[in-house]
Amino acid sequence: MTDVLVVGAHPDDLELHFGGIAAKAAADGLVVVGLDLTKGERATRGTAEIRAREAEASAKCLGLAERVQAGLPDTGVSHLDAAQVKRVVEIVRRVRPRWVLAPHPEDAHPDHREGGRLLERALYFAHVGGHPAEGGRHRAHGLLFDWPDAGTRAGGFAPQFTTSGLVVDISAHFEAKRRALECYGSQFGPGKGAEPSGAQTRLNRPTFLASVEARARRWGELVGVDYGEALVFAGAVAYTEPLTGLFGAHGLGQGANA
Ligand SMILES: [Zn+2]
Repeated sequence: MTDVLVVGAHPDDLELHFGGIAAKAAADGLVVVGLDLTKGERATRGTAEIRAREAEASAKCLGLAERVQAGLPDTGVSHLDAAQVKRVVEIVRRVRPRWVLAPHPEDAHPDHREGGRLLERALYFAHVGGHPAEGGRHRAHGLLFDWPDAGTRAGGFAPQFTTSGLVVDISAHFEAKRRALECYGSQFGPGKGAEPSGAQTRLNRPTFLASVEARARRWGELVGVDYGEALVFAGAVAYTEPLTGLFGAHGLGQGANA
C-alpha cells in the first residue's frame, strides 16, 4: 500500500509541482511513490537515458520509496487512448495509492492536461471489476491536482483568488525540492550532469529556478508561511476523523495565524 502517488507527465514535473510535498510526506513517515507518465524523449534537451538517471538521483533527494516509469509517448499523452488508460490502471492497481497528486487538467502543457485527465479516468476504472487491466480492484481515497498559476495555466489566468484549495507549508522541505530539481542538469542549464546541447529553452534560463522559488514563496505568502505548494481537490472528499484535525489548534489554517 502506498500513501501518496505523485504524478508528473515528464521526468522533473513531479518535482516542479509537488517536490516539497513529496519530501515532506516522506519525512513524515509516509510511503511516497513517484510516477512519470513519459520518459521525456521529445524534449529539446537531454535524452531519455540521461533523464532516467536524473530522475533516479532526484527520487533519492525526495525520499521516494519507488519511482515508476509508465512509458507513454512524450507529446502524445491522451486520456482517451484505451491502451494508455489500461497501462495507468495497472500501475494504480499494483502501487495501490491512498492519495494521488497529478497535474491540473487546465495546465498550459497538453501532456500535463491530459495527464491529469488520464489519472482521473484511471482511478475510476481501477475499481471497476470488469476493466481489462491486470490486478485487483483498488479505490483511492482521492485525487488532488496541482494548482496552476498564471505562468502554468492555459490562457494565463491565475485562479488563486477564485478557487478554494489547500496550500501545504513546505518551508522545511523547499531545500529538498531545490536539490531534487538540481539533479536535472540536462533541463535546467549548467550544473551537475549538464548535457551541453546548447539549445535554449524556457527551463534553462538562469532565472528559471529562481522563478520556481518565487512561485513557492507566493503560495506561501498567500497563507502566511515561507514556502508553499498548492493543491485543489478533484472532487468531494470524506472527512470522518475528529474535527480537531480540521478546526483545532493544529488543524487547517495555522500558517496564517502563526
Ligand atoms: Zn512536463
